[in-house]
Amino acid sequence: MQIPIHEVPVLIVGGGATGLAASILLSRLGMRSLLVERHVGTSVPPLATGLTTRTMELFRHWGIDTRIRDYVLDVDISVSRGQTLAGVERHREALGFPTADQARAVSPAQPVICSQEFVERALRDLAGASPLAELRFDTQLVSLSQDATGVDAVVRVGISGRESRIRAQYVVAADGVASAVRRHVGIPMLASTRTIDYLAVTFRASIDHLARGRRCAVYAIEHPDVNGLLVPTSRGGRWVLCMPYDPAREPRLVRDLPALADKVRTAVGVADLHVDVIEASTAQGATQVAERFRAGRVFLAGDAAHELDPLHGMGMGTGIQDVNNLAWKLAAVLQGWGGRSLLDTYESERRPVAVRNAARSNGALQQLSGLALDMGFGYVSSAVIGEPGAMRGGVDEPATVAAPGRRAPHFWLQHNGRRISSLDLFGQGFVLLAGPEGDAWIEAAAKVSLAWSAHIDTVVLNERSLGSNAVERWTSHMGLDPRGAVLVRPDGHVAWRSAGLRSGAVASMTAVVATVLGRDGEESRTLTGTVLHPAYAPSRRSA
Ligand SMILES: Cc1cc2nc3c(=O)[nH]c(=O)nc-3n(C[C@H](O)[C@H](O)[C@H](O)COP(=O)(O)OP(=O)(O)OC[C@H]3O[C@@H](n4cnc5c(N)ncnc54)[C@H](O)[C@@H]3O)c2cc1C
Repeated sequence: MQIPIHEVPVLIVGGGATGLAASILLSRLGMRSLLVERHVGTSVPPLATGLTTRTMELFRHWGIDTRIRDYVLDVDISVSRGQTLAGVERHREALGFPTADQARAVSPAQPVICSQEFVERALRDLAGASPLAELRFDTQLVSLSQDATGVDAVVRVGISGRESRIRAQYVVAADGVASAVRRHVGIPMLASTRTIDYLAVTFRASIDHLARGRRCAVYAIEHPDVNGLLVPTSRGGRWVLCMPYDPAREPRLVRDLPALADKVRTAVGVADLHVDVIEASTAQGATQVAERFRAGRVFLAGDAAHELDPLHGMGMGTGIQDVNNLAWKLAAVLQGWGGRSLLDTYESERRPVAVRNAARSNGALQQLSGLALDMGFGYVSSAVIGEPGAMRGGVDEPATVAAPGRRAPHFWLQHNGRRISSLDLFGQGFVLLAGPEGDAWIEAAAKVSLAWSAHIDTVVLNERSLGSNAVERWTSHMGLDPRGAVLVRPDGHVAWRSAGLRSGAVASMTAVVATVLGRDGEESRTLTGTVLHPAYAPSRRSA
């Protein structure tokens, strides 16, 4: 019997946080996608709990931050060290996250502690709500091959074993540390630490009160018999004990529920504690980054591309930012407004971030604040037009002034009668922010948008939006002359800025857009008679 073929522009393999975020982002950009996840549902056990400021910025933008807040734990985002949970605290150290006030100074969002399973459920519901996204759980990718025009994948459904074929233009491999896709395309991981085995025990016990007023996100247990991390994961007394272990020495431990309950009692420090072990699983961990993030039409993202130390709480956020970077590039190429070379910039922009986060995992770069790591980096690639002498790559505190390659700064403004963050303007196309006297850039953007079929939304930052000190605020946020302009990419990073108005705004914008979209050397065309995808129909708006 012939296996049916399903054609789709983008196949996403893996329904963890990275894959689900990819599905949401592609739908928001008007792209169809199919996600396959081998498990019947989202993540169990709950692993990640720390959500960074930048992650929460995106969740706020997608409207799921309030739902996630229902599950947020009211804890100090730090690690408390001691021999047991009930014992005396020996030391407290920050987890590298900013305080709410530090985050508030640069962002409309704050970092939170919320278990991964609640996050993934919220992401799954949002992803599944789009008619452009198909989510197939209980479906495993079993093989993959590619040719010059696309990728062929075979997927198999749960216990029925029914197989189907998928033909996709591009594949996002978000299938985790043990990525089968990565193996299929032959990309090695470059490990910078030795691999360790660990055991995660999810359990329920009434122990919240034992932390005695030092409610922390993580408790590092330094007991002679149990060396591991105790992590609260819900408001209802569910915790995880994560500890290194030796499968050769204790091969049966993972199934030995009484022995696991004893480990929990030792870590907690209460010998007769009632413990319900819900689940136990083993995994291997190392700090490692894939040698390449791309093989032809296949892109690695999330843990499939980089594995980071769990204690630094950056794995999930780094994966979500990977696909925030990749999704608009895929949409641009598939919808015809980006050149193929735009896709090369995914690896050149995201791999250095992963390498840097891996270095932090290994104890380097301790001088950098959590905020700097989370969003103070700059991309250097052909999708960014740098300024001579300006810092473009590297890591710094999050910019409060727009700089090419960096996340565009957050500031509050009035827009259509509402108070919004500047970040609320980004996500669905390019956005040109023009200074109070930058009208010529607005007109140029409208023309270039039509000529290149690229969606460029325009916003004038003037007295109505920024108040009576508009010029001063514009200068402080953008560091520009009132006649200047800033072009922001759909991922919220600055593509280019112009200090003031030079003659030939249309010619300048044309060159900028052609370079950023990887369409250098192409003749731009007028679009008479061409129908744009509704998501990309140019519009003009003014704050
Ligand atoms: C103990 C621990 C604590 C952590 N704490 C934090 C934290 O506080 N903050 C943080 O940001 N990160 C943390 N992390 C890291 C975080 O959990 C990961 O970075 C994150 O889960 C990666 O998401 P992902 O979607 O890339 O991969 P995964 O979550 O691994 O998802 C991959 C998915 O792909 C599916 N899959 C695999 N193969 C196939 C196939 N062939 N076909 C179909 N589907 C497939 C899997 O079933 C899985 O659902 C922690 C990790 C651990 C282990």
